[in-house]
Amino acid sequence: MGATTFTPDTERLLDSAEAFCVSRHQRLTEQRRQVLGLILDSPRPSGAYDLLDRMRVDGKPTAPPTVYRALEFLTAQGLVHKIERLSAFVGCAHMLQSASPCGHSHGHAQGIEAIQFLICTHCRRVFEITDDRIRTAIDAAAQAQGFRPAGATVEIEGTCAECLADAAAAQTQIS
Ligand SMILES: [Zn+2]
Ligand SMILES: [Zn+2]
Repeated sequence: MGATTFTPDTERLLDSAEAFCVSRHQRLTEQRRQVLGLILDSPRPSGAYDLLDRMRVDGKPTAPPTVYRALEFLTAQGLVHKIERLSAFVGCAHMLQSASPCGHSHGHAQGIEAIQFLICTHCRRVFEITDDRIRTAIDAAAQAQGFRPAGATVEIEGTCAECLADAAAAQTQIS
């Protein structure tokens, strides 16, 4: 094989992602598994070039189309999300937390799906949240214009709680 192996936690997530794909009559091929593993192993969002750089199957570099096609598949299955602002990919938080990817239905029986991300511009980490109030507000605002929304991705930039705490601590040291 010679393919990269990941941390036990990531391997476990990959196994459950594989089972999830099987349940949807899809295949998590070795390449797709590798790309997903690299994304899950990284604490920060991964760009396509970055993934290409780290992707080695049998010690050989991978062709860009292979990585792009894998990313397309993983995004379509809801296993990873693309953060447009960063042109980078993160694993779905629901998959990371429950180790059982929901295929991104997020359990909404009706209305649109609105995926929400908090992007910290200091540490470059991304947090996925699911606040139903945001989804409902988008739905209502669009409907008021006679517009039928199909879906939405909300990307909110700012400073995360940890970075805010760090900044506050640094502030007290100075004064
Ligand atoms: Zn998600
Ligand atoms: Zn931060």
